[in-house]
Amino acid sequence: MPEFCDVALPVPLDIVFTYSVPDGLLPVVGGRVLVPFRQQRLSGVVTDLHDRKPKVATKNLIGVLDPAPVFDEQLIRLGQWIANYYLAPVGEVFRTMLPLGAEFKRAVGYRITDKGQMALHLAGMSGSSARSQKTPEDQFVEFRVLDYLAERGMTREESLRAAARAPKALLAGMVRKKWIAREDLSEARDAARMVKVAVLKSVEGRLNANQQTLIDTLAAAGGKVPVDVLQSLEIPRTTLSTLAKRGLVDILQEPAQFAVSGLKPRPRLFDFQFNPAQQAALQSVQERVNGRNFAGMLLHGITGSGKTAIYLAAMRAVLEAGRSAILLVPEIGLTPAVAADLHQLFGEEVAILHSGLSDKERAEQWHRIKRGDAGMVVGTRSAVFAPVSDLALMIVDEEQDPSYKQEEMPRYHARDVAVMRAKMANAVVVLGSATPSLESYFNAKKHKYTLLELPDRVEKRPLPAVEIIDMRQEFQETGSEQVISRRLAEEIEERLERKEQVMVLLNRRGYSPVVLCRACGKTLECNNCAIAMTHHKRSHRMECHYCGYTTPVPKVCGQCGSEYIYFLGTGSEKLEELLHGMFPQARIGRLDRDTVRGREDFERALNALDEGELDLLVGTQMIAKGHDIHGVTLVGVVGADMALGLPDFRAAERTFQLLTQVAGRAGRGQTPGKVVLQTYFPDHYAVQYAAQHDFAGFYDKELRFRSWMHYPPYSALANVLVRSNKLDEALRWSGVLGKWFEKTRHEGIRVLGPAAAPILRLKQDYRYHFVLKSASREKLNVLLRSILAYATEQKIPRTQVIVDVDAVWLM
Ligand SMILES: [Zn+2]
Ligand SMILES: [Zn+2]
Repeated sequence: MPEFCDVALPVPLDIVFTYSVPDGLLPVVGGRVLVPFRQQRLSGVVTDLHDRKPKVATKNLIGVLDPAPVFDEQLIRLGQWIANYYLAPVGEVFRTMLPLGAEFKRAVGYRITDKGQMALHLAGMSGSSARSQKTPEDQFVEFRVLDYLAERGMTREESLRAAARAPKALLAGMVRKKWIAREDLSEARDAARMVKVAVLKSVEGRLNANQQTLIDTLAAAGGKVPVDVLQSLEIPRTTLSTLAKRGLVDILQEPAQFAVSGLKPRPRLFDFQFNPAQQAALQSVQERVNGRNFAGMLLHGITGSGKTAIYLAAMRAVLEAGRSAILLVPEIGLTPAVAADLHQLFGEEVAILHSGLSDKERAEQWHRIKRGDAGMVVGTRSAVFAPVSDLALMIVDEEQDPSYKQEEMPRYHARDVAVMRAKMANAVVVLGSATPSLESYFNAKKHKYTLLELPDRVEKRPLPAVEIIDMRQEFQETGSEQVISRRLAEEIEERLERKEQVMVLLNRRGYSPVVLCRACGKTLECNNCAIAMTHHKRSHRMECHYCGYTTPVPKVCGQCGSEYIYFLGTGSEKLEELLHGMFPQARIGRLDRDTVRGREDFERALNALDEGELDLLVGTQMIAKGHDIHGVTLVGVVGADMALGLPDFRAAERTFQLLTQVAGRAGRGQTPGKVVLQTYFPDHYAVQYAAQHDFAGFYDKELRFRSWMHYPPYSALANVLVRSNKLDEALRWSGVLGKWFEKTRHEGIRVLGPAAAPILRLKQDYRYHFVLKSASREKLNVLLRSILAYATEQKIPRTQVIVDVDAVWLM
């Protein structure tokens, strides 16, 4: 065994740590170990085993958590690539890639020391007078802690804090005074749940009735049954052990099999009846998969053109060849109905990973995949790290969806990681979308990706007609700010009379987005963010949509005490109420994050529309997603262009995508659809091209804009954000980094800033940022590395300088 091992730990430091391997421990590269780190125990991933003695003294490993690697060589390389590309500590990357947190229980405990016993004793002797005499509240709590520990001995932190009502800082102070000692009680739990199974070996020999029943049960079940199940038969427990002793049955420990879902499959089967364009696309994907070389493909198919059927058919072919495939879907895409379809198609071979799983369930799915029980993986962002072997096909559905970007360390983009993983595995990656991102479309145009087009909707259903309503003109003609234009109201009326269905999109939840005092002009802002709080009428509260902070609805102005408080603007909750008022007989549903708590709610609302239980569905961008709805003949868009007013270079792209998606919801049955698009930007090209269903036109125009402005895909872009809960600190740090950027030469890189971030304060932090652009990724990477090193040198904590490579959110 080599003497040393390098371990990547989940701490904000860009290095691996070397430990000595004590006799008797057998760590493996790609497996987890338990190590001492500062005052605690951490689990990390072994990246190297070697005999190179480091210059500093090393500590011993505490234990080995995995006797075999949890990461194969490819996933280790992928993790290292992410760490390098996104400038993230490799230990944090590995932690993100491995959903096994549930198997490692972090715990800290405290016990009283001799010095603490003495303090407690002295306090008791000096009597209550000494303790009460101007004693600060803290001291009371300290004695409460000592009392508790003296009586109970070693106590876990959570129990101690609850029992003695002691804040963390106070305990830390007591540790410094050496009154109490802190110990790490972390330990590994069982890696995989094991079950006992009985396996039939032989049926020879004479058997009594009970024995015969057991043997018959085993034989009928195919020779293997969990012992639990056999013990539920009305047979003495000793019968099984007798059979085992006679060698007729083996009793083994096996990893538990976990049912992926209790849902019954829907009766509808996928009928892979393809039109010629679908057929050609599928064939093209399959040829590349069989070629066993890396290939990138962009499947551009308008809404309703049947992309999903192509994904599933391609995956089924991969399954039949005994290889693996991963399908990534956006957050909201994994509804129970989709899961049921997947089970119907792939049986027990599918693993479904979504954000609703508990840590334990996630770990169970991970083990199923790792064991090779499930080679078809479907999931949201982090499913890109699923430990499949022999990866043949990686599919990213709705590849432009922002939920693929992780907005915390490590800030990776799952689509780009998928492409890199496919490259490393010599696999095929298919990016699918009705509205591809500029980046992917550009790669296809430059022939880095093969472009597969599905130009027609299934059954050649026509695209809906789009009518643009200029809301500035509507204001002039009606003399007041309208939420629903006269034209849209007419169209809705008509549909309701004909018993057809309507969807109305307003991409803002809540009742009123702004609460303003008419006396002093103050708007109600969040305590933690420089953001107006939104009024939620039904729940009677004000809510910050960025940090979740809530307050009661104010009756008077917090600033001047005036009663002239006005609720301004319209969110989806108010829109629903307005429509109820205008169309009292209509059955109206709403779909936004306030009405939808989980995927089930989402599915339920869309099903209600599908079953004809609703006439009208109001909602945020959520209504643009999900399965086909057949009765909708009118889509009203009352607020989807708000983003066009934001200082974000992707605003036009996002607006175009949203408008195109929601327009695609109209007229999917036999009746042709119509879209009424209300906008304050009727001349904006994103609105115009969306109204004309002109993808190519939009991309050409937008690419020209990006090229002039040196934005992606023509440049690599990174956002460097400096944050602190103290304004002067945030200012000082951004000034320090700004000076460094000025002083140092960095050819071929544009640095904009420091500037206040568009949202100056967020979750209690003040924020300043730099935007860096360069045609060369390598140069950008080197510069980012040096600025991080300089920040460390200047004692700016690593957690307060956020480097976001390929940032999608610049606010
Ligand atoms: Zn006021
Ligand atoms: Zn907030």
